[in-house]
Amino acid sequence: MPTNICDFWTLHQMSINHKYVNALLEIANSSSAANSAKKIWRKELEKYRSSTIFGPKSDTASGNRLLRVNLEVMLEAAESIFGPAEMGSELYTTPGYHNEVPNSGIKTTLESPPRLMLIINQDAVTWEDAFYEIAHEVIHLLSPVIAEGGKPPVATLDEGVAVYFAEYVYEKYISSYTGSHPSLSPRGLGPNHRAYANAYALARKLNFEELRRIRDEFSGFPYATDPYRLLSLSAGKLNIEEARSLSAIFEYKRA
Ligand SMILES: [Zn+2]
Repeated sequence: MPTNICDFWTLHQMSINHKYVNALLEIANSSSAANSAKKIWRKELEKYRSSTIFGPKSDTASGNRLLRVNLEVMLEAAESIFGPAEMGSELYTTPGYHNEVPNSGIKTTLESPPRLMLIINQDAVTWEDAFYEIAHEVIHLLSPVIAEGGKPPVATLDEGVAVYFAEYVYEKYISSYTGSHPSLSPRGLGPNHRAYANAYALARKLNFEELRRIRDEFSGFPYATDPYRLLSLSAGKLNIEEARSLSAIFEYKRA
């Protein structure tokens, strides 16, 4: 038991990330990744469970490594549901924050050859916020479409599934200990995020199995731009208006 106020403070700091690390361990353990990958994740996560890492924006070596493991286990979870990503793991780098990029998104690095980098929303200040943003972006990493200014021409379905997956994993692994919904969910963020909330409401009419079939048929969610084909793949769960909305190019608001 702590004996003075300093010990209380130390214990408080130690608890900053341990529940989040437990959530990642749970995802890693239930994943279908090769045992060798699972072993590396477990070893790393066990280390972070008992060490103090301040928020995801702290930009420390251990904090950045933890973001990287988050991305790795999340991408694996997304691939096990929706099928393999179109890019190999050597094609992306550690996720992080970028002063000039306020919103989450996928960018290319300036290296040669360039790699993909997942940028995290500046408003993601807790590990749980970062978890939600990374979960959303890994859906875009399945079939990356990169555009200047971060507004790629993708079917609305791509954004709908990204919100759907992020809500699903957050509810399952994070809300179970926080008891609350994701603070960055477009459902609670007002009119600027309505397009995301609408895309989510339509995408969730379909189950993950149906979405995986649709992804296969179109060779990626961003390319599901044919409403009639989408309708025929929707097992009667969408009407033509809904299929039109989901297959339309997503309208990003100006940041
Ligand atoms: Zn998105």
